[in-house]
Amino acid sequence: MTVQSQITASLVTPVPHLARSSAAHPVVRLSLLVPCFNEQDAVEAFVARVSETLGARGDIELELLFVNDGSTDATLPKLLRMQVEDPRIRIIELTRNFGKEAALSAGLMEARGDVVVPIDVDLQHPPEVVLDMLAKWRDGFDVVVAKRVNRDDDPLLRRIFTRWFYAIQNNVGETHIPADVGDFRLMDAQVVRAVNQLPENRRFMKGLFAWVGFPTAVVEFEPHDRVAGQSRFNGYRLWNFALEGLTSFSTAPLKIWTYIGLAMAVFAFLNGLYILIRVMFVGIESPGFASIFTAVTFLGGLQLIGIGVLGEYVGRTYMEAKRRPAFLVRAVYEPDHD
Ligand code: UDP
Ligand code: MG
Repeated sequence: MTVQSQITASLVTPVPHLARSSAAHPVVRLSLLVPCFNEQDAVEAFVARVSETLGARGDIELELLFVNDGSTDATLPKLLRMQVEDPRIRIIELTRNFGKEAALSAGLMEARGDVVVPIDVDLQHPPEVVLDMLAKWRDGFDVVVAKRVNRDDDPLLRRIFTRWFYAIQNNVGETHIPADVGDFRLMDAQVVRAVNQLPENRRFMKGLFAWVGFPTAVVEFEPHDRVAGQSRFNGYRLWNFALEGLTSFSTAPLKIWTYIGLAMAVFAFLNGLYILIRVMFVGIESPGFASIFTAVTFLGGLQLIGIGVLGEYVGRTYMEAKRRPAFLVRAVYEPDHD
């Protein structure tokens, strides 16, 4: 066994002394972290499903931590009304829509459970899977990711681009992000503390989750259809999301231009040499306008791409330098409010 495979093996085999037996942890406090943006039609079905699958068990003490991410519909009033009957519900209200990544960050700061599971309110993440995750956690894993086994319901184009994203990300990025693994995952409180310590305000959660490490297990699940409403992640939003991921975890797109520029320069130099020698031995040949034009525009294009890439990073550095928080909390509603 090589050293590397030994290390890998020790990562996939749970460490027995860390196993959390039912005797030592008869009840696990489970925080479901639920970001909501205009989900008035989904919240009730969600709570009902979760109560059915996870709520009636003696070994789980449930916290339903909703983050209202600036909904403009009746999501918040509905949640508040449900909270009166249901003391497991806590609600964080953000001051506006900050996006899912920020909503998750806000929730991680507030979650009180021994384990925290971010889960979509649209029931695309089946709550039963959380039971499989808990079993792995009891085996001693600190992180249990849920891997989607089929993405057949995604549009073809989205599937193709998703595959490309992971291929590029994992070939050039410094942090390996497992494919088909989203925010739906179990994290031990220790992992949550680690994520909360990361200072950046542009938060690509999948990347941050992967970056902190910890012994990780995988469970598989089939995503379900949305119970109500529509996905907010259209093509342009996903593209920006992918850019965020790439630039947050790799500087390769910046560095690659050095090599492209170098290769172009060498080629141009050799080509110049060749023309010079030809002129000396064969005589002057009227050079084609088209070739010059092509070369100029091609180089112009390359330069613009390079500047664009620089812009992506400079822009992000600029945003990060302002040290603005990733989100602002307007209120946290505890179950005993009146
Ligand atoms: N969401 C959010 N803020 C946003 C967009 C989405 O909190 O700006 C929440 C949304 O309410 C849902 C989850 O993130 O609980 C996933 O969103 P969606 O179903 O639209 O995305 P998809 O499942 O298509 O990735
Ligand atoms: Mg969804």
